[in-house]
Amino acid sequence: MIDLFFFKGYPVAVMGLARSGLAAALALKASGATVWAWDDSPGRRAEAAAAGVPLVNLHEADLGGAAALVLAPGIPHTYPQPNPVATRAREAGVEIIGDIELLARSEHDAAWIGITGTNGKSTTTSLIGHILKLSGRPVAVGGNLGTPVLSLPPMGASGTYVLELSSYQLEQTFAAPFAVAVMLNITPDHLDRHGGLEGYIRAKTLMFEQKPVVAPAQPLTAVIGVDDEPSREIFRALARRDDLIAIPISTEHRAAGGVYTKHGVLIDDTESKAAEILDLRGVAALPGRHNWQNACAAYAAARAVGAHPDLITRSILNFPGLAHRQQRVGQLENALFVNDSKATNADATSKALACYHDIYWIVGGKPKDGGLAGLEPLLGRVRHAYLIGEASESFAAWLEGQVQYTRCCTLDVAVRKAAETALAERRAGACVLLSPACASFDQFVDFEARGAAFSGYVADFVGNYSG
Ligand code: ADP
Repeated sequence: MIDLFFFKGYPVAVMGLARSGLAAALALKASGATVWAWDDSPGRRAEAAAAGVPLVNLHEADLGGAAALVLAPGIPHTYPQPNPVATRAREAGVEIIGDIELLARSEHDAAWIGITGTNGKSTTTSLIGHILKLSGRPVAVGGNLGTPVLSLPPMGASGTYVLELSSYQLEQTFAAPFAVAVMLNITPDHLDRHGGLEGYIRAKTLMFEQKPVVAPAQPLTAVIGVDDEPSREIFRALARRDDLIAIPISTEHRAAGGVYTKHGVLIDDTESKAAEILDLRGVAALPGRHNWQNACAAYAAARAVGAHPDLITRSILNFPGLAHRQQRVGQLENALFVNDSKATNADATSKALACYHDIYWIVGGKPKDGGLAGLEPLLGRVRHAYLIGEASESFAAWLEGQVQYTRCCTLDVAVRKAAETALAERRAGACVLLSPACASFDQFVDFEARGAAFSGYVADFVGNYSG
């Protein structure tokens, strides 16, 4: 358990009792704090109470007596409108923090690697965790990805935390003792929560403004993707600072003094002579240029904490990849089956469409603003589209005259039809791709459930196929 000794004997309010909030409430309680926990959902309150978490209605309690308000990252504290509990805490002069801050105040002796960016956080976080685990050091991986940080084990001075951090979490983190801070890319996202693009960029730059409880022995290494303008600007500002080492990452051009790709080959230019390290085009678990960015960033981060280039290369080559992100889930004769259920918008889907040539594309779900706009240049790769979910009508109208499509309604039907056509047409590089460009909530609990269903239908089809 993470010991939150600094709040022992103090009342601490916890608002939001989903996974990270519940873990925070339990860690605070076990550390001897007096927990006042609340969630506006009666169901979550009941779950927390069953786990032994004391409930106090934070909409009514006198928050002035609390040492802090631990606010779940999903709950707005500024934009678009602050949650009333955040406003009450602010009016009472109570500091608002998140679970990462609690970990930072407790585990400041561990080495910390933080990863943020609009896209690629989970992939890069897992890849760095994978490399460091293979290097034999004690590593705990979590945060926005997987395990909430207060459910991770204490690591102490000999361990490393590899943490995925969202912009929401960064806004409530002040003392993270990063040895390495990775910022992959910035494209407009979650703008309503940050009051616009400027606010979103400011949240990301909080990575580099932390004030750890104990100053780290080594200067911070900032690993920055420089393939978009907001990130380039951040890099330029960091490169002027003498309290950190700024390493640029690019998949579009040579990044002097950094890590970049040339025709898919990862090049390390962080030392005296640029060295070719690894041809990323052969890494099946990391398809596409976007994944080269993730691989370059992971390489730079692992190098910054002393991992050897050979070990990093071996680890990248045997990285199993992450489920639901262009995950290969089957192969039958000429057809490859790929689960990209995590692609919940057109931008993410564009990354997958760019990787294959003869695509039998399963698309649809609960549509996002903008629909499929932006995918026009990639439609030549699509042999046929199989439409599912609420988006079927609007996507059919959009595809009309551009790509042949079939309305399938449900995923099981789409898998069967796509697979049958892909096998019948016998194209050498056929790919049955679930890359829905939509949220899943119309037919599934979440994108993981959708991806798992796809993998199950593929396994059934492959298992029952008799040629
Ligand atoms: P995140 O955790 O930031 O949501 P993931 O690693 O889970 O990112 O990847 C989600 C999707 O985002 C992938 O399926 C892919 O479509 C896209 N993606 C991944 N890495 C990048 C990147 N570096 N740049 C742009 N898009 C990316």
